[in-house]
Amino acid sequence: MTELITLARPAPASTNGTAPTSIIEMRGVVRRYKMGSATVAAVDGIDLGVARGEFIALMGASGSGKSTLLNLLGGLDQPTAGTIVVAGLDLAQAGRSALVEHRRRHVGFVFQSFNLLPHRTALENVEVPLMLCGQPGPARRARARALLEQMGLSGRADHRPSELSGGEQQRVAIARALANQPPILLADEPTGNLDSTTGASVMALLRQLNADGITLVVVTHDPAVAAYADRIVHLRDGQITEITARTPAPAAAQEDRR
Ligand code: ADP
Ligand code: MG
Repeated sequence: MTELITLARPAPASTNGTAPTSIIEMRGVVRRYKMGSATVAAVDGIDLGVARGEFIALMGASGSGKSTLLNLLGGLDQPTAGTIVVAGLDLAQAGRSALVEHRRRHVGFVFQSFNLLPHRTALENVEVPLMLCGQPGPARRARARALLEQMGLSGRADHRPSELSGGEQQRVAIARALANQPPILLADEPTGNLDSTTGASVMALLRQLNADGITLVVVTHDPAVAAYADRIVHLRDGQITEITARTPAPAAAQEDRR
């Protein structure tokens, strides 16, 4: 418990004088999977703090643990060992209902394959998380319309995913991820299924959201995508091999704070 209180403490003041609050703190995070008699450590001892408002890119070869790490941050999975505090909640200790609330309110997910409901319109897809949070119909639809408008998709509200381009589908997915105004957006190869021009426009959108204050953790293979990040975290075999900062990042001071 003492350990937890230390971890939840705000990060030291940065060079620009403001005190960045750590929104994500991972200490000794391990996720092992049992495969018959063998055990795979998909994530194998990760220590990382992410400042509120930071943009982190996760890079590494296929199988290096990127998706597992993102799923842990999103409360879709729990660690075998270690501590993960996200938005003040200790995910390793959290019970089922706390994890559900975490997924609904603290994080938005964006996936490579968009993961939209195929038989629902763009508007209905964006309404889903609002419905899960108990928002009444009229308020829900108004919010979903506003989000689609923000994504430049006003004219596409009544289209089903199959009637939309890949870039449009991803923008619907981003609108859906933002529905409940989460402080953190987790994206697993968001441009992986898009051509480079469309991918660049989706990244421009994510960067704008980050500039507006959302904390962004993006898994990518694409150096052009990672180039936008404040810090690039390189993974190999479930471990961090290197962290490169684009500029002296406010959060850099956190890494040796143990
Ligand atoms: P990445 O997203 O970097 O490609 P993953 O996080 O998906 O990597 O996987 C990391 C390692 O963990 C891989 O060796 C993968 O096979 C293994 N793994 C991931 N999820 C599971 C699972 N549900 N059961 C067993 N092994 C898994
Ligand atoms: Mg993956």
